[in-house]
Amino acid sequence: MRLNMKEKYDVIVVGAGPSSIFMAYELIQLHKDKKVLLIEQGRKVEDRYCPIDKTGNCIKCKPFCNITSGFSGAGAFSDGKLSLYNEEDDDIYVGGILHEYIGVPKTKELIDYTDKIYLEFGADPKLEGTEHKEEIKKIYNKAKKEGINLINIPIRHLGTEKAHELYKKLEDYLQEHKIEIIYQTIVDDLIIEKNEIKGVKIKPSSELMNEDAETEEIYASNVVIAVGRKGANWLVNMCEKHKIKTSSGIVDIGVRYELPDEIMKEINTYMYEGKFIGKPSPFNDKVRTFCQNPSGFVASEVYDNNLSLVNGHSYKERKSTNTNLAILVSHHFTYPFNKPIEYGRNVAKNLNELGAGNILVQRLGDIYRGKRTWEKEIATNSVVPTLKSAVPGDITYAIGYRTMTDILNFIRSMDKVIEGFANPDNLLYAPEIKFYSNQVVIDNNFESSVKGLYSIGDGGGMTRGLMMASASGVQMARILAEKL
Ligand SMILES: Cc1cc2nc3c(=O)[nH]c(=O)nc-3n(C[C@H](O)[C@H](O)[C@H](O)COP(=O)(O)OP(=O)(O)OC[C@H]3O[C@@H](n4cnc5c(N)ncnc54)[C@H](O)[C@@H]3O)c2cc1C
Repeated sequence: MRLNMKEKYDVIVVGAGPSSIFMAYELIQLHKDKKVLLIEQGRKVEDRYCPIDKTGNCIKCKPFCNITSGFSGAGAFSDGKLSLYNEEDDDIYVGGILHEYIGVPKTKELIDYTDKIYLEFGADPKLEGTEHKEEIKKIYNKAKKEGINLINIPIRHLGTEKAHELYKKLEDYLQEHKIEIIYQTIVDDLIIEKNEIKGVKIKPSSELMNEDAETEEIYASNVVIAVGRKGANWLVNMCEKHKIKTSSGIVDIGVRYELPDEIMKEINTYMYEGKFIGKPSPFNDKVRTFCQNPSGFVASEVYDNNLSLVNGHSYKERKSTNTNLAILVSHHFTYPFNKPIEYGRNVAKNLNELGAGNILVQRLGDIYRGKRTWEKEIATNSVVPTLKSAVPGDITYAIGYRTMTDILNFIRSMDKVIEGFANPDNLLYAPEIKFYSNQVVIDNNFESSVKGLYSIGDGGGMTRGLMMASASGVQMARILAEKL
């Protein structure tokens, strides 16, 4: 697409992940005639493809990993589990802190509305976790005894392949309704004058590594940052450079845990995804399970500076015999240290180096025995890894004592809730890290300390999942519609 650089846009959105897409969708419903531009550094959703199935190894696609960048952002290859909420809860427990800005009732209303759009574009009408109340209560009580809280909320499961199709339909819809989208283009910088946003500077994604590459300027009186976790690092740099106010952020560091479906059968059947939260001693850090994938596959994805991180997904049709889930430890640093992203990157870098650039895998039993895992041991292990490119090794060399102790103590407690959870053949993959930018300080209208500059979705630290990120986009559109 050729842009008319002289023309001023009403709204420019940096990134085209779910938060951005749902914002554009809602603006179409509210303001058909406004000039809206989405700028995405990755490809169109139909051109996104991860070659790992063919190559066996992650080849670190250039300039960007197709799993994390492109239309629909991290949503395209996500497992597509849309976390809803319980009617009876008077708080929102999953997906971020959107409700802290707009209140719980409004957030619930937004989730209902956003869910309807997902259904309209082809999401499965079936909701997981709404039946088997008795059985779930029993698991809840067992967990309580171990000091673990079980959050059970309804989940709509799109499945990785269906998520792709659904976002393609949304991409077509936006373009049919004259939302302009440019791909393979990086927003390199923000144009801010006298603490007011004026526009952005862009360059082709192929010039990613060229700091001297010429940039072009595009103007708008409203710029929405929707860069996801992929853009967390960029956002930190922007906040530092332009003195955009932030508050201290966190980083979640942990492992992807893989074990037989058989062990997770009850949770998989009754809830599809069990969200367990504990505070194991002696540190009392928050440890949680996240993104559980029954009969799923462990995946690797590439972040900035070629960092390989582990993740997981499951398909509607293609199935393994293992369940995978993240076990994450929240890291809140205190004075004088305040560089959570850098800390996480260093942990990831060390783990990557131990695996010669690949994800590391280790058997739980080997960690207890104080030894690394060898290839021949993985080859005969009862739990067969679904991420074939993972390299057997020793995770404990690079994960901090505190993080590892939290994970192991959590696994021990979980074993009393789910028999077999601590079986020695279960597999830990690392690094699983969730980077959130230092939280961008925003008001109830999502406006930052710079006039006309807004932040939504995962990138600025407001949300942590598909549903909330999408809902934050809908709300952003409603706020802008009042202003435009
Ligand atoms: C493998 C995987 C599985 C997941 N499974 C689930 C799940 O089952 N359920 C769930 O709720 N969540 C899941 N998630 C998380 C979910 O995908 C994210 O929470 C969601 O996509 C966040 O949306 P977003 O719009 O905030 O950001 P993103 O989806 O991250 O999109 C941000 C976009 O901005 C672009 N961008 C960044 N910086 C720039 C720049 N400077 N210039 C131009 N473009 C830029 C990026 O390329 C990206 O496309 C999963 C994520 C992954 C990776």
